[in-house]
Amino acid sequence: MAHPTAGEEEYLETLYWLHEVELPLTAANVARAMLLSAPTVHEMVKRLEADGLISRDERKRISFTDRGLSVAENVVSRHRLVERFLTDVLGIPWHEVHEEAERMEHAMSPAIEEGMRLAIGTATTCPHGHPIAVGQRIPGAPLADVEVGATIQVLRFENEAEQVLHYLYGAGVQPGLKGTVTEHDDEHVTFEDAEGVAHRLTSSAAETVSVKADPSPPARVGLPAAVVLDQAAFGR
Ligand SMILES: [Zn+2]
Repeated sequence: MAHPTAGEEEYLETLYWLHEVELPLTAANVARAMLLSAPTVHEMVKRLEADGLISRDERKRISFTDRGLSVAENVVSRHRLVERFLTDVLGIPWHEVHEEAERMEHAMSPAIEEGMRLAIGTATTCPHGHPIAVGQRIPGAPLADVEVGATIQVLRFENEAEQVLHYLYGAGVQPGLKGTVTEHDDEHVTFEDAEGVAHRLTSSAAETVSVKADPSPPARVGLPAAVVLDQAAFGR
């Protein structure tokens, strides 16, 4: 069987990411997440199906074939590994590595991959908090759901769009950061970290930040649609 193309890997990566946040695997969600038109996505979905990487039921819901899932897991894991390598070994800021990793992840030999694994040492996540060994996600809640007075620790950023990461970087938020939610209204969530620094995020940005919270808000079924890319919602 032919090796999947870089284009196919991109789509599988997006599908895996939807699958991880428990959003429905549909062409419409893929189109929104990749900021592509419906016809473009439709063509690629047909190709992925013809190549035996996905299947679709009568309601057009997509699922991975075994082979598709293993390709997706590999590319997602490699993406996170590359990101960690770029931040920790090359010193590139974490809000700038996602796009770079997108370019590198499809063209790496196993030897380079192995070298990177050795170079990152004991790190287990990408710089945005996602497990390099896929499937090891720590359960979390959207920061947007957390009530005032709760203590939190930032787990990960669910949306790695460049603009979103720039926004979060500017707000001084990063995975691992601990704090207490001090303010929460319709438009913003603010939390204060251990040094007393306040971090204020728009509600739409707070939707994309997964945290461990105490007390923990009631669980949602999947993550909100806001997590699927809508760049217009950010950057305020
Ligand atoms: Zn990442």
